[in-house]
Amino acid sequence: MAQKLQAVRGMNDVLPAGAAPWQHLHAVAAEVFAAYGYGELRLPVVERTELFKRAVGEVTDVVEKEMYSFVDRGGESLSLRPELTAGVVRAGIEHGLLYNQQQRVWCTGPVFRYERPQAGRYRQFHQLDVEAFGIATPDVDVEVIAIAAALWRRLGVSGFTLQLNSLGTPESRLGYRAALVEYLGRHEASLDEDSRRRLGTNPLRVLDSKVPATREIVAGAPQLLDHLDAASRTHFEAVQRGLADLGIAYTINQRLVRGLDYYTHTVFEWTTTQLGAQDAVCAGGRYDGLVEQLGGPATPGVGFGVGIERLIALMALQEVPVPGKAPHVYFCRFGSHSEAAAARLAEELRRQLPGLRLVLNAGGGGIKPQLKRADGCGARYALIMGDDEAAQSAVQVKSLRGEGEPFTCPWHELPARLAGLLGL
Ligand code: ATP
Ligand code: MG
Repeated sequence: MAQKLQAVRGMNDVLPAGAAPWQHLHAVAAEVFAAYGYGELRLPVVERTELFKRAVGEVTDVVEKEMYSFVDRGGESLSLRPELTAGVVRAGIEHGLLYNQQQRVWCTGPVFRYERPQAGRYRQFHQLDVEAFGIATPDVDVEVIAIAAALWRRLGVSGFTLQLNSLGTPESRLGYRAALVEYLGRHEASLDEDSRRRLGTNPLRVLDSKVPATREIVAGAPQLLDHLDAASRTHFEAVQRGLADLGIAYTINQRLVRGLDYYTHTVFEWTTTQLGAQDAVCAGGRYDGLVEQLGGPATPGVGFGVGIERLIALMALQEVPVPGKAPHVYFCRFGSHSEAAAARLAEELRRQLPGLRLVLNAGGGGIKPQLKRADGCGARYALIMGDDEAAQSAVQVKSLRGEGEPFTCPWHELPARLAGLLGL
């Protein structure tokens, strides 16, 4: 027997019964981002591997161990994107969107990382990404954080903590880096292996370690905020003032470092205690060095990525209401005259009532199996047309959910009656 075909490990199917929260989230997000003047970018899923090496950094987990890279038939090394920002910047440079101007953009779609699959951690997952370019002032750091807050509010999810930190400028970070390496070097023997390796490559990343023994050492490490220069401090204070001004609560987490080299100044994460170990739903920060690093003009940028699967898991846990997509109406038809008349009427109803979700029975069957299908698909009403009704140019309207008695309705009155019953 042939081997059973299955989805790739860590890559999930979303079935029709589970699609409503995805559709709702995308509709709400598009509205929220537009409300702040952000335009959508749609980008390829595949980019040159080089882009991610240069953008995300060669010594990050993502590039070292998690990328899906392959050589195409032309001999070029390509990768499935492990995040969205690099592609956004690549496109921005390529299309001249970043020269001496401001850009507010967003992007969404699948991203791929070869991680160990577990709850909230997949190999194909999805992100919503928001990015603002060409604005160096802290007001736009506040703006992107406010966009995330607006998205939570509009969706009705709550209980997040906004964790905030500043990495300062690359220069001020160099001073800190030296102090950190000196401190960690003294405790090298007690560090885990990954962290020991990072000591020479990306020491700030050690602050982010999840290994308990390493965390204990990190607790006594020098503080990044003590090493900020005056300009970085001023920027960070302005971000905090801006957030306070909008009533957005935050906590400062000095251990919050985004792994990527290009981050400067503000970094943040929205976390929740409701999702177990995979607690970050949204992460972002300022990356003033990135555009230049990728060959564009020196252009400041700030943005964030939302993990859609985690956000949807949280929506489910908090039972936030999601508009249903079950059919409103199931149209039962039998008899030689009614089949064609019902098909025409169904088209007419969909045309006259935008938003109406109507399933027309197909594949024949008697009244009983048709009503069973009607009930099974979740419809609120059945329309029933046999030859008798067809002869009178009418249909029977029957609630499937105990909402009133069945009645007969002439075809020409049906759009108005259904609109009333369904609130369309
Ligand atoms: P984590 O610390 O959980 O690995 P990260 O720092 O690698 O997250 P980012 O690269 O900042 O994550 O991606 C932004 C968001 O994408 C995260 O906050 C999270 O919600 C989500 N995310 C990251 N990796 C995964 C994954 N493997 N599966 C599902 N969602 C993910
Ligand atoms: Mg990760």
